[in-house]
Parts: sequence; C-alpha cells; structure tokens
Amino acid sequence: MAKVLVTSALPYINGIKHLGNLIGSMLSADVYARFMRATGNEVLFICATDEHGTPAEIAAHEAGLPVEQYCREQHEIQARIYRDFALSFDYFGRSSSPQNHELTNHFYHRLDDAGFIEEREIAQVYSIDDGRFLPDRYITGTCPHCGYGNARGDQCENCTRLLEPTDLIDARSAISGSRNLEVRQTKHLFLKLPELADRVEEWIDSRNDWPLLVSSIAKAWLKEGLQDRGITRDLKWGIPVDRPGFDGKVFYVWFDAPIEYIGATKEWADSAPPGETRDWKSWWFDAADVRYVEFMAKDNVPFHTVSFPATILGSGENWKLVNYIKGFSWLTFYGGKFSTSQRRGIFLDQALAEYPSDYWRYWLVANAPETDDSSFTFSGFAGVCNKDLADTFGNFVNRTLRFCSARFGDAVPAGGEDGPMEAELAANLQSVLDRYTASLAAMQLRRAAADLRELWVLGNVYVDRSAPWTQIKTDRDRAAVILRTAINLIRLYAIVGSPIIPDTCARLRQALAVDVGEYPWLTQMAPVELQRLSPGHAFTVPPPLFKKITPEEIADLSARYGGEEAGEAAA
Ligand SMILES: [Zn+2]
Repeated sequence: MAKVLVTSALPYINGIKHLGNLIGSMLSADVYARFMRATGNEVLFICATDEHGTPAEIAAHEAGLPVEQYCREQHEIQARIYRDFALSFDYFGRSSSPQNHELTNHFYHRLDDAGFIEEREIAQVYSIDDGRFLPDRYITGTCPHCGYGNARGDQCENCTRLLEPTDLIDARSAISGSRNLEVRQTKHLFLKLPELADRVEEWIDSRNDWPLLVSSIAKAWLKEGLQDRGITRDLKWGIPVDRPGFDGKVFYVWFDAPIEYIGATKEWADSAPPGETRDWKSWWFDAADVRYVEFMAKDNVPFHTVSFPATILGSGENWKLVNYIKGFSWLTFYGGKFSTSQRRGIFLDQALAEYPSDYWRYWLVANAPETDDSSFTFSGFAGVCNKDLADTFGNFVNRTLRFCSARFGDAVPAGGEDGPMEAELAANLQSVLDRYTASLAAMQLRRAAADLRELWVLGNVYVDRSAPWTQIKTDRDRAAVILRTAINLIRLYAIVGSPIIPDTCARLRQALAVDVGEYPWLTQMAPVELQRLSPGHAFTVPPPLFKKITPEEIADLSARYGGEEAGEAAA
C-alpha cells in the first residue's frame, strides 16, 4: 500500500466552470484517485477554490456583493456541483482560509530570510475615483497603433500589439469608466526567480518520466529565462503581507494559490471529526514515502513546474515536490473556445440539468484532450453515449437480468458446468483487464475508456454467440451457465467501471447485492472473478441504466446552447 497525494488545479471562484475545466483537471484527477483507492492505496485527494485576485473582486462588484460573501456563496455552489459530478475530493478547501494565510506568510518569510525576496518601487496607475490601483488589464483606452477604442492596458486585442497602460489614448478605468487616473509610485515584493533557476532546472531534469506535453512547456519556460516576479499587489482582497510598511497590500494570487494545496490539506486535518486524527504534515513535510501527482490544463503547467517549485526549493525546507504531472490540452466547443466570460459552451450546472453525471464523465474521459485538443459537439456526445453506454453496456445488463428473471427468477441460476466458451471468455477478459488496469495506473484516460468499452463488448459477443435464448429451449442447464457467467460479468463491470462511471456502478452493485469491502477492486484472476456470485444469489432488475439521446434532443440541445452557431463561427 502506497501513500498517494492527488491534487487538481484549483478552479477559480468567479462562476460555474465548464466541461473543459472539468476534464482538464478535476475529473481526470478523480478517475485516478478512485482507481488508486480501489486498488488499496492510501489516497488523499485535495482541491479548493482559488479565490483571490482582481477578477474575484470585479465579479463580486458586478454581483453587488461584498467579496467575502461572494466567494463564500460561489464556493458552496461549486462544491455542490462537484459532489453532483461524484468528484471524490477528500477535502475541497478555499484559498482564502486562515490555514492558507498562515502558510503563505510562512513561505514568504522563509524566502525572505534566504535572500530571495527584494523590495522595489514601481510606477502603477491609480484610479482616484475607484480609490485603488488598477492592474494593467483593467485600464482601457484607444490603441495608439490602430485606433481601436477598447484596447486594454496590457495588449490591444484588435492589432495584438503589447502595450503599457501609459500608451493608451484617453485611458479610463475598466471598473468605473473614470478618466481620473494618475501614475503613482508603490512598493512591492519580488521573488528573485533567476537566482532559483539552476535549482529548478536541476530538479526538472531529474523528472525524466513526465509526459512530453508537460516537460516541453517547463523547459521552454526555463530556456526563455526566468524574470523576477512580483508576489504582492495593491488590493484589499487577499492574504495580507506580514511586513512593516505593507499595510493594504496582499500577496499576488499566483503566489498563494498553489500553497493552498498544502493549506487545504491542513483544512482537512483541522476539520477532522471528533475521535479522528488527521496528520496533514505527513503528506507534505519530509514525505519521501508519498507519491504526489498533480492534474492540470497546460496553461497551468509553468506555475506548477517552475513558480511553485521555486517557492518550495527557495524555502530551504523539506516540503514535498510533485512527482508526476498530468497535463491536458483544450477541450473545444464545436472547434471554438469554451468561454466563461461569454458563456459559450456548456457549463456544469447546465450539463447536470440535461443528463446524469455518468454520461458526461464517460464522454469526457473517452475524449480527454490528452495529447491534442478535442472537440465537444452534441451529436458526438450523443453518438458515444448511445453506442457505448446505452447499446453496449446498458443493453447487456438489461437483457441479461431481464431474461434471467423471466426464465429462472431473480437469483443466479443453478445447473450445468463451464465449457470452452467460458474459458475463452475468461482468457480474453483477463488480457483486456490487464490492459485497462495499466491504462488507469498510467493515467491514460482515453485508452482506459476504450479498454472498458472492450470489456463490455466481450460480454455482448459472449452472449450473442452462446445464445441463451435459444439454448433454453433445448438445454436449460447450458442456458443457466451462460446467464450465471453473464451476471458475474455484470458484477465485474460494476467494480472495474467505478473510477469512470461511479454512480451507475454503485447502483449496479446494489442491484446485485455485491459487497466489495474496503478495496472495491478485483483481487483474483478472471476465471475466479466469474464465479463470485453463486447459484441462488438474489438480485433485483434495475431500470435501464442509460437512455438513448434522440436526434430531436440533439437538435434541441444545439439550438439552445448555440452549438451550430459556434460551429459556423469556427468553420
Ligand atoms: Zn491596436
């Protein structure tokens, strides 16, 4: 039994996430965490909302709420949705927690003591009417190069030229529209990343098992050369900086967000029920016995391969560094971008209102953007759910249990003995099971979904070829053998499918009265696993597991969510 720490990149607080966010970190991490738990490892699966920074302040302002209240409410909304998607976090924390305040200041002090922090004065735009400094992207004005009227202080999105806020003509606050702006001097802290570059590089070079997507992004960043990076901001909402002269300043969100992985682990320990002891530090400090795996989309890779490790290495303390990073490309919506700000795509609350979570989980895992982008379309989604879930898996379960119930009653039938077809099935099953287990262990999600589908196909092929509905007319014992084997196959599916479609598998285990104990995984080879449920073991016939998505529904969905429009825009 190994100790496995799993973290998912932290979803940002400003609103409900979309399907791309789900597969790009949280769902993939969940599949892995579930598999590792089921196979007997000690797993701690941690996630949290990332709550600091200007976008949270702006979103709260737009919602007309104090930012603390906005974040508390949005955290609850996101937490509920993730529970409904059956994400099995051991703890879902908040980066604004007291634990993270304490740890972020701890890391800052360690870095400062080691000489990696520098105080500098910089010039920044101050909005007199808003009573605050404005980040570059919250200043808008006319582009001096192309005359575009809505250019941002960091870049003109019309001509793509990079800008300084002072380049803008007729500059104004994006928050209030006020033109009453001035440039002020303000003190900030910088992390001297170039002085940590050698150590970070040496560490990255030692990680030779990382996927290419991840190591190439990390190395490209290092090759470009690291710059000193500001770790503080002139904002009200955030973690106050414990340093004289820094009243009214907070840590920059990029600095405190990854520390929340540790913070949320401490939140988990601090929220232990009476009588239970949870040792947060054993997962993070002097934790050579822990294997730490992170899941994230590729835009997060630089922070997790360079910035956060630099924070840890620079602290001079023996905090845990990540062992393996699983990175993802983008899921697109009809070839175009999912967009939170423009509400383009399908968001998690909407998804759950249309179909149960396992439909989405299965499609997303089967189409995970592991090496390249993958595209969501409603017809593609319906095609996969109908073929794999309804026709292959659901239909096998339904026809097996119904036929058995009609001819033998609601219990595993007795009679007959296994023959060559059962031996062949067991051998084929074992080889696909071995592959499936290896795919899950290697976090190869698309391959794992394909292997699971192949397990379901084996069941269908077996029943089609052995034809119990014909056998029953002439050889009742032979029909009993086939049904007994098929019901045991359903038991096997209800166990091994649980990392990907946990709700359906839980319902099936209940229908078959399967108790798999503490480690719900197979412990024996296929021939033994196909004999687990003995004659006389009672079951109930569950309602159909999946319903087919009709062409009318597909047309309706793409009309309501703008699928066709987005497709045309992309084409
Ligand atoms: Zn321009």
